[in-house]
Amino acid sequence: MSDSDRKEPEPMDTSHRITHEQFTRFLQAKAPEKPCPECGVNDWATSQTPGDHRKNPYLQIGLLPGAFTDKVMPLHTLSCRNCGFVKMFSAQLVGDWVKKNA
Ligand SMILES: [Zn+2]
Repeated sequence: MSDSDRKEPEPMDTSHRITHEQFTRFLQAKAPEKPCPECGVNDWATSQTPGDHRKNPYLQIGLLPGAFTDKVMPLHTLSCRNCGFVKMFSAQLVGDWVKKNA
C-alpha cells in the first residue's frame, strides 16, 4: 500500500454541533422521555463535551464507523445513568430539526 492509497480522514464536520438545551428541545418534540428499555429506570444523561462546564454546554458528538467505508455517521447519544444502555440519534437529523425550529 503506497501513501497515495491511504485515505485522509475527512475534516471534522462541526455543522452538527448543538447544545444540551437544543437536544432537549428536540427530544421533547420528537422522542418524549421514556424509562430505559433495559432496566426501567428513567434517568438519562446526554453526552457532554469534555471541559465544557457552561450551563448549556455543547454535546459531544459520537461517531459510528461504517463497514467497508471511511464514512462515519455522527450521533447524539443518551445514556442510562443506571445500567449504561445507550440510545443513539442521527446528528444530521437532529441538527436539521434544530435549524428549522430555532
Ligand atoms: Zn437502564
